[in-house]
Order: sequence, then structure tokens, then C-alpha cells
Amino acid sequence: MDSIDTISLQDCPLCGGAAAIFEEGGWAFTVQCCDCGAHTAVSTYNRPEERHEAASRAAYTWNLGKVINPAPGE
Ligand SMILES: [Zn+2]
Repeated sequence: MDSIDTISLQDCPLCGGAAAIFEEGGWAFTVQCCDCGAHTAVSTYNRPEERHEAASRAAYTWNLGKVINPAPGE
């Protein structure tokens, strides 16, 4: 039905770890590193038709290396 899982993600620009797309409560996506916790800003969507685009946008941001460093001690 959708192909969120097929969106390709680069390794984490900070630590080289594996990244994954996370959906936030049915309204947004972020991409987060499974190792260090670096993540992108949320990419929101308002309608189901925009869902895949929002996921792609989050992945694109991640792949550009525009990630937010995890706060120390978080
Ligand atoms: Zn990382």
C-alpha cells in the first residue's frame, strides 16, 4: 500500500550507525539514528495523501546530513 519501508536512508552522518524512519502519532515523520540518537526535525503531514511525501522529505533531510545532535545525557 505504501512504501515507507523502501525509502533509502544513508548511514548516520555523525556516527555511521543505521538509521530508521519513525512515525509520530500519525501526523509526522522523523529519521533517527539507532545508535547515537541523532535525528531530523519532524516532517509533518495533514492528509493521508501527503504521508509518503512527508516520509520522503524526512529521509531527504537526513540524507543531506541535516540532523540534530542528541543532547548530552539525554
Ligand atoms: Zn548516529
